[in-house]
Amino acid sequence: MNSIHLHAHAKINLYLDVLGKRPDGYHNLETVFQSISLYDEVTIHRRGEGIRVFCNHPDVPTEASNTVVRAAHHLLQTAGIGEDLEIRIDKNIPVAAGLAGGSADAAAVLVGLNELLDLRYPIEKLMQIGVKVGADIPFCLLGGTAIGRGIGDELQPLPPIGNVSFMIANPGFPVSTAWAFRQLNFRLTNSPKNVTILTQNLNKRDWVRVGRSLYNVFEQVVVPQYPVIRELLERLRSLGAVGSLMTGTGPTVFGWMPDRDVAEKAVHDLSVAYGVVTEGCGQGIQII
Ligand code: ATP
Repeated sequence: MNSIHLHAHAKINLYLDVLGKRPDGYHNLETVFQSISLYDEVTIHRRGEGIRVFCNHPDVPTEASNTVVRAAHHLLQTAGIGEDLEIRIDKNIPVAAGLAGGSADAAAVLVGLNELLDLRYPIEKLMQIGVKVGADIPFCLLGGTAIGRGIGDELQPLPPIGNVSFMIANPGFPVSTAWAFRQLNFRLTNSPKNVTILTQNLNKRDWVRVGRSLYNVFEQVVVPQYPVIRELLERLRSLGAVGSLMTGTGPTVFGWMPDRDVAEKAVHDLSVAYGVVTEGCGQGIQII
């Protein structure tokens, strides 16, 4: 086999709290991740010279800082081999949007190379390699619904949530994750919500209570800087969402809309750079 094609799915956070800064500079988090149906397409060919990246999005770097190059280097180093690779990324996931697009692409390259080079590494080993590149990569490899602790890499999978629908809306500008963490500055109030209640509501499929249990600490610092996010969150509720939340460090938001017709009408009514209806689904990385 000389090439492989994969779908790299984005994530949202149904819950995200930052518990504190660690001595190593990272932060301890408590989060609930959910894979969504939106994906980038990643194709890997064994050809050319060195590792070359081609991408259809102008804001994505194609040199060494691209997450896929870093992931490929770490994997090849672990395996003790060299390979010439061309990696093509077709971005559908908005960039710097809180949807972990770069992490998903890197996870796809780990899964793709594991298959292409017949390395037969278990997912746990791919996660260990992935976390060196980005804290969200272990979840992108796992997919589905999961609680994340530590830097987001200590994962506890949750039962699939089924086909409940929600919509995501991206207002069309980037937010830097590093900047958002700096703004936190630990002037934080304790979370008024909690993961246990959210997961109980998910298990009971009580979508109205799920909508009320959503929480993201970053709304406190990102929304005041970008009032359009507040407007979008409120607009989603007025369009029928039982809850709305910013994902990751923003600016993407989602509306929890268990009624699919409501979600589709809301996407139609909203004028945002990007809006899409998605369903609670289990994909992480798929080999196509
Ligand atoms: P997270 O939710 O994990 O913080 P994000 O969705 O907010 O991530 P990304 O889309 O992953 O952010 O991009 C963050 C930055 O990483 C971008 O500004 C971009 O320059 C850089 N980057 C490197 N590789 C990639 C990639 N494969 N896809 C997208 N961005 C990439």
